[in-house]
Amino acid sequence: MSVLVFAEMKGKEIHPVAFELLGKGEEISKELSIKLEAVVFGGDESTAQELIDYGAENVYLYEGEQESCKECLSSLATEIKPEIMLFGATKFGRALAPRIAASLNAGLTADCIDLRVEEKEFIQIRPAFTGNILAHIKTRSTPKLTTVRYRVMKPAEKRKREGRIIKKESSVDIKKSFPLVKREKIESIDIQNADIIVSGGRGLNSKEDFKMLEKLASLLGGVVGSSRPLVDDGWISKDHQVGFSGNTVKPRLYIAIGISGSSQHLAGMRNSEMIIAVNSDPSAPIFRYADYGIVGDLYEVVPKLIEGLEQKVS
Ligand SMILES: Cc1cc2nc3c(=O)[nH]c(=O)nc-3n(C[C@H](O)[C@H](O)[C@H](O)COP(=O)(O)OP(=O)(O)OC[C@H]3O[C@@H](n4cnc5c(N)ncnc54)[C@H](O)[C@@H]3O)c2cc1C
Repeated sequence: MSVLVFAEMKGKEIHPVAFELLGKGEEISKELSIKLEAVVFGGDESTAQELIDYGAENVYLYEGEQESCKECLSSLATEIKPEIMLFGATKFGRALAPRIAASLNAGLTADCIDLRVEEKEFIQIRPAFTGNILAHIKTRSTPKLTTVRYRVMKPAEKRKREGRIIKKESSVDIKKSFPLVKREKIESIDIQNADIIVSGGRGLNSKEDFKMLEKLASLLGGVVGSSRPLVDDGWISKDHQVGFSGNTVKPRLYIAIGISGSSQHLAGMRNSEMIIAVNSDPSAPIFRYADYGIVGDLYEVVPKLIEGLEQKVS
């Protein structure tokens, strides 16, 4: 029995959410007196050793492509019978975990923000009713599958540790199962790791006005974020969405422009180190959370900010 962490690969690197899962996994496995293990696809021995150094006692290392992991993970779970399986609530993890849960006929709790053990029971905590309450969820089935949001938990401490690397062979030939028809480059941004985010909300009059925010973001060395309505309207891609049903972010600086500060938006950005809000309505809730607030029309304020920064740069 173990807590099994799925260590997602991002190219040749381990996605940092895996280190957060190992941090929490270590705490839980100790309380339940079970092992902490990890499984990784497509890495090499040094990848597995890194997971050991972050706390995994055993690492199952598959050589095959990460895309083939559904079948492999399901059969690994049947073989080693983990008590708990932890996945990052990334795009990939969110797509993978329910498939594994269905194939194992097991329960899944998605998008958790905390995990704990109370009286030897595993408790999964996640926002419910659009973020207004925190639900504490127990899963009856075994294994218990959980996806956990990125950047809400402290990563494990990295130090030289001993562990076992167990090499596994993928049972699926991805090239045969899913022949490649066409490779398309999809533009995506890494908003969750950004240090500076300039986000736009319904205060913007048109899709084109995002260009103004892009300009401000690039002068600051940041990226553009968005509230959900503009994503729903197709003005900007979901990668940019901040909030309860989007990304959780924790930048050094978050600038909210024409965003009211709904509880769902705040759920994704309230832990930013510094928040600056630009809003024409002095009673907008965002000002209660902002370190600095500018009450004014964004179409006057933002061009002035851009002008000021351009003068500084030149
Ligand atoms: C299940 C669920 C999940 C959700 N998930 C998310 C989520 O992940 N992220 C998210 O953002 N929302 C989410 N929402 C939606 C959320 O409830 C709000 O509707 C949304 O956050 C509002 O976006 P907004 O602040 O851009 O728009 P509004 O609330 O309409 O605010 C627009 C603001 O712009 C200001 N403004 C207008 N014109 C100007 C101007 N010229 N200059 C300056 N300021 C101006 C206004 O004063 C106002 O404060 C979710 C809702 C549900 C039900």
